[in-house]
Amino acid sequence: MSGQHNQLKPTSARSIRTPAELVETGLLTAEDLASSIDAVAERYAIGISPAIAALIDRNDPKDPIARQFVPDAAELNVAPEEREDPIGDLAHSPVEGIVHRYPDRVLLKAVHVCPVYCRFCFRREMVGPQGLGTLSPEAMDEAFAYIANHPEIWEVILTGGEPLMLSPRRLAEIMQRLHAIEHVKIVRFHTRVPVVEPERINEALITAMKASGKTAYIALHANHPRELAPSAREACARLVDSGIVMISQSVLLKGVNDDPDTLAALMRAFVETRVKPYYLHHPDLARGTSHFRLSIEEGRALVAGLRGRISGLCQPTYILDIPGGHGKAVIGSDAILQEDAGCYRVCDFKGGEHDYPPSD
Ligand code: SF4
Repeated sequence: MSGQHNQLKPTSARSIRTPAELVETGLLTAEDLASSIDAVAERYAIGISPAIAALIDRNDPKDPIARQFVPDAAELNVAPEEREDPIGDLAHSPVEGIVHRYPDRVLLKAVHVCPVYCRFCFRREMVGPQGLGTLSPEAMDEAFAYIANHPEIWEVILTGGEPLMLSPRRLAEIMQRLHAIEHVKIVRFHTRVPVVEPERINEALITAMKASGKTAYIALHANHPRELAPSAREACARLVDSGIVMISQSVLLKGVNDDPDTLAALMRAFVETRVKPYYLHHPDLARGTSHFRLSIEEGRALVAGLRGRISGLCQPTYILDIPGGHGKAVIGSDAILQEDAGCYRVCDFKGGEHDYPPSD
């Protein structure tokens, strides 16, 4: 994000979707627009919900919330290693809307719109008004036929786009169709809604989410402790109290959460909200996102620093989605330093080294 945001402007009651609205609300200056923000907006969608706009400190030119959502001219720089489809969704899509990468689970991508558009999004070429749109009724039929015809599918993950952008009626229809597929036991929603549009988490939506009768999980995406604002925590409480299990997913992002204090505060905020820390993603090679990426070495050092510093409940798993669609790899630091004839050299959280004897 460039430019100074020194004037507090009234928070918009509706989402910010255009460069002109970014200027009107004080999130960018007219000079920022002249310096290529229009070109960024032509390529990638803009979306900042009222709840997120209210969290942005316009007096801080390095505000970590603004950095995630306000477009930046740096997005026009495409590094040679960056890809249109960084985690290889298309290579594993047997029918439209389904990604079947691992044997026992599929992604079901019913919509490709979001209430906010994250500047580092790994699916930024697929989401937004010019993205892949909503699945047609025929494509939806094919997607459900695929799930029904593959008895190894134990879990269906609704992602997108943002699955909770569906109306309660449409979401309930999808859940009722899953209800009819006996071998599906778990339905997981990947969502940012409890944080970015907490008012959307109402009784009608929760009832719809549970209409499959399957065990429901939510993977909540948040990257900075300030995102867990009181309204977001209340939305999570409504979900957890309804019986839905919540886990977290965050992206390790330069200038947002790449310091030990912020990461620790984020993971503690999740646990306080009854959201179990799950994945900390190394940023993907999405186009125009190199200003968010740190090295794997830096990421491993940060994650190693969490051990011992915060409760075991707060520890996420640091993972890399291997570019090209080869799935996830755990890349956090390894406590086992070496193995010699069955004897292990193990590192404790303070860096001390100890032997563990061979088994008989
Ligand atoms: S909410 Fe998720 S899918 Fe939507 S823009 Fe952000 S990261 Fe991408």
